[in-house]
Amino acid sequence: MKNTAPIGIFGGTFDPIHHGHLRLAQEALEQCSMSGIRFIPSGTPPHRTVPLATAEHRLSMVRLAIHGQPGFAVDEREAHRTEKCYSFDTFSALRAELGAEQPLCLLLGSDAFLQFHTWHQWRQLIELTHLVVMQRPGRPVGNVIAQADATLRQQYGTRLAPSPRLLHESPGGHIVVLDMPQLDISATDIRSRAAQNKNLRYLLPDSVAHYIHTHKLYKS
Ligand code: ATP
Repeated sequence: MKNTAPIGIFGGTFDPIHHGHLRLAQEALEQCSMSGIRFIPSGTPPHRTVPLATAEHRLSMVRLAIHGQPGFAVDEREAHRTEKCYSFDTFSALRAELGAEQPLCLLLGSDAFLQFHTWHQWRQLIELTHLVVMQRPGRPVGNVIAQADATLRQQYGTRLAPSPRLLHESPGGHIVVLDMPQLDISATDIRSRAAQNKNLRYLLPDSVAHYIHTHKLYKS
């Protein structure tokens, strides 16, 4: 059986990127022995309201946040798109570029995972990639999966892998749930603090806090 280090793919609005995102990526990299993580800031996401900061600002903040961190890279492919852009299309393109054998892992917080059945072509998406789900404060997967959508619950039951080592042995199809230090930080809360001129320190990298301040982001 082949054994290839997986690549982590981390999509989000990153409006702005914060320490919750960064710690999630670092935990996935280490716990799953991945070769690297690609951060893919969204353009116009299909599931949610339009981000407040432009794609250029959100990309710049991701670049600042991951600067100098080995294994972390930014992928701009979604950010520049103005039409709706689905993860299924992004992963189809990544699969074509990286080859049929390369293990891919879609990184998700547990809140996002519990909505996964609403994503465009989600069943086909799990064939293209593994899912690495990180427990998020207040949304422990084990506790809430029983109340989740029945089709998602069924996929979870059949695809749950006992160890991240299995992610190295196939290109996609498994679900792994990992623990991380619980950081109750959200971009929504950071935007609200920025709008009230509150200090953002220790919620996100200083370079990103400085960028928000300099560019007067999230002011109404
Ligand atoms: P918002 O508050 O605007 O909804 P967010 O902080 O949840 O934003 P997103 O860019 O929407 O950030 O999230 C991207 C991914 O990061 C999602 O899978 C989400 O579950 C995960 N995530 C965000 N914040 C945390 C956190 N504090 N801990 C763990 N995962 C997180």
